Amino acid sequence: MSTLSVAQVSARRESVVAALTSSDLAAIVDLVVWVEVDDGGSADGGRVAMAASHLGRVRLHQDGRHEVLLGLDPIASEDPMAFLPYDLECASPGPLTSRDNAYPYAASRILSLFADPTRSPDVAVMHTPRHFFPEEGGHTGEHGSLDVIQSRAPMLLSGRGVASLGVVDGHARLVDVGPTLAAMAGVPDDALHDAVGDPLDGAALTEYLDGTSPANAKVIGILWDGAHCGDLLHLAETGELPGIARLIDHGVALRGGGVAQFPSVTLTNHTSILTGMGPGRHGVLGNVFYDRATGERVVPNNASTWHRSAEWLRPAARTVFEMVNSVVPQMDSPRTACVNEAVDRGADYSTMAKIRDSGSTSGAAGLDDQLPDAKGSIHLHDTTDLDDSYYSWGTQVDDLGLEQMQELWASPESAPTLTWWSCVVSDAGHHAGGPRSDIARDSLRDSDSRLVSFLEHLDGLGVTDQVTFLLTADHGFEGSDAAVTGSWAHALEALAIPLRDEGPGFIYLLPDD
Ligand SMILES: [Zn+2]
Repeated sequence: MSTLSVAQVSARRESVVAALTSSDLAAIVDLVVWVEVDDGGSADGGRVAMAASHLGRVRLHQDGRHEVLLGLDPIASEDPMAFLPYDLECASPGPLTSRDNAYPYAASRILSLFADPTRSPDVAVMHTPRHFFPEEGGHTGEHGSLDVIQSRAPMLLSGRGVASLGVVDGHARLVDVGPTLAAMAGVPDDALHDAVGDPLDGAALTEYLDGTSPANAKVIGILWDGAHCGDLLHLAETGELPGIARLIDHGVALRGGGVAQFPSVTLTNHTSILTGMGPGRHGVLGNVFYDRATGERVVPNNASTWHRSAEWLRPAARTVFEMVNSVVPQMDSPRTACVNEAVDRGADYSTMAKIRDSGSTSGAAGLDDQLPDAKGSIHLHDTTDLDDSYYSWGTQVDDLGLEQMQELWASPESAPTLTWWSCVVSDAGHHAGGPRSDIARDSLRDSDSRLVSFLEHLDGLGVTDQVTFLLTADHGFEGSDAAVTGSWAHALEALAIPLRDEGPGFIYLLPDD
């Protein structure tokens, strides 16, 4: 099979960009992004991030410079604190153009997506916040964009060793989560690196920690998949999420949350959270991507493939479980535990390991009959939410997750140094109704009820104030508009260029034969 020359790639990419930035598609295509060789100096390591829309085109330098090449700068703001306080987001949901939106860390996040040698696309296309595309798997609530709201996840630190500051006007990045968990668990600075000794993309959030790292540290990281940062803090402040409010009372919550990696999708960010690096280094480029080296379409975010996540990690990736186990001596009970999480490599206890050991040929998808009954869940606020099949399954999985947490924490002596607890029903609630909908808020209330149960379990052991907590999510959410429909597929087909569009949104140019 022939390969495309650099000049062919460049020319064909231009055709793709021109087609996708046509004003006909302005309602559904927010931005088109790619990476070029930098002819303007070496400060960006030879590569430079590009973004374009029907409004114009910009070259994004890593030092923050925006070099506008055509028309208006389509990335007018990179403010990670945009649409705050929360009233501003509620008053202006779904910005109509990219000039009314914000894209934090645009250059570094785009560069990371395009840094994998064989899995990065040639061009990535971003839906507008309002685009509704059920024919391609889209929902009422969506995420995946580089924009600030879909990229904003909650970021809470609480408990032992954390400064009691309450809600503060700050932000972090999701790549900071792994290093922070490791630091809180006692991993020294010089051991916070990837598998080949290079620095991580993220850094421990030491500004919120008191600097002590107790010999018997116990750290619990909690992920509420897709939990909307603004609404979570709002509901906690209005008394609807007593578990979250309790964590904030004994710690700090960042109003600007944690900024996800791009694309702001689940498996990419679970992997970034648990390795401290962007997708261009860990290799999980999206929930669906194509690998030119193997000719394989990889679908890592699927019930039948979650237990195989380690197969897609690039050699430099090192999980937080591996970091913690490198400094904690082996013992009879697990040092690290990973509950209901795909990215589990190295954890002494892991739900996915149980699934691998079960012999199920279709992974978790083949084990649904072993889940508890959703209708019997004591954490469910509204039984009509179970009409949504994803919500119903999430209720079952999250109840089983809480059971595992209580077993792992049967006694303080046998509890892991680091416990990671991933919960999913919040993603189901937000997909079904979008942020602030009844079902999205129910999903936060249900998750909070499980959190309260677990905190009460720790209270019963008398150890709650000896534990350090971090609570986050993998991405945010925006609500689509049922009137904004359509597809860019016909615009690509009209080019008659061989390509694949995975997702859709990841465009891979292919050789002619
Ligand atoms: Zn997710």
